[in-house]
Amino acid sequence: MGYRPAVFLDRDGTINEQMGYVNHPSRFVLLPRTGEAIRLLNEKGFYVVIVSNQSGVARGYFPESLLDEINSLMHKKLAKAGAHIDAIYYCPHYPTGLIKKYTKKCDCRKPGIGLLKRATEDLPIDMSRSYVVGDTCSDLEMGQKAGLPSVLVRTGYGLGEIEYVLPRRRVKPTYVASDLLDAVHYILS
Ligand SMILES: [Mg+2]
Ligand SMILES: [Zn+2]
Repeated sequence: MGYRPAVFLDRDGTINEQMGYVNHPSRFVLLPRTGEAIRLLNEKGFYVVIVSNQSGVARGYFPESLLDEINSLMHKKLAKAGAHIDAIYYCPHYPTGLIKKYTKKCDCRKPGIGLLKRATEDLPIDMSRSYVVGDTCSDLEMGQKAGLPSVLVRTGYGLGEIEYVLPRRRVKPTYVASDLLDAVHYILS
C-alpha cells in the first residue's frame, strides 16, 4: 500500500471566503487560485484532506446535512478546475451548544487532533511528510500537537491573527503565505 503525504487544509478562510458561518450554500465562495493550488497538490501526489470546525451545527445555526450540501458544491466547483479533495472531516461539536446531540467537549474540535487521527485511520498517510495549512492559530496549534509543519495563510482571519493573536501564542507558523497557492508552492519547494 503506497503511503503518501497529506496536506490538511482548513476550509473557511483558507479555501473559501471567510464569511463567518457558512450557513447556506450561497455563502460558499472559493478564494481565487484555490482550484489551481489543490490541482497542484493532486498532481504532486499529496492527499488533500479538509479538516474543519463547524460548531454552527452544535449552535443550531444550520443542520449537519448542510455540510454535505456544501461538500457537493465544493467538489463541483473544484472539479471545474481539475482539482479534487480526497477526504473531508468536520467537527460539528461545541462545548456550550444548543443542539444536545452535538454539545460536548470533544477531541476533534481544532486545535484538538481528533480529525487528523481519523484521517490517518482511513487513508495510508505518511505523516512524516505532511503539512497543515490554515488561517488561524488553532490550525497551527493542531499542527504543532501532531508534529506537522504548519503554514498560515493571510486570507480569511489570517491578517488579524498575525497582527493580534499570534504574538501572544507559543505557536509559530513554519511559513506565512499570501494564500493557498503560495502555501502550496512553499510545500512543494
Ligand atoms: Mg479558517
Ligand atoms: Zn468535535
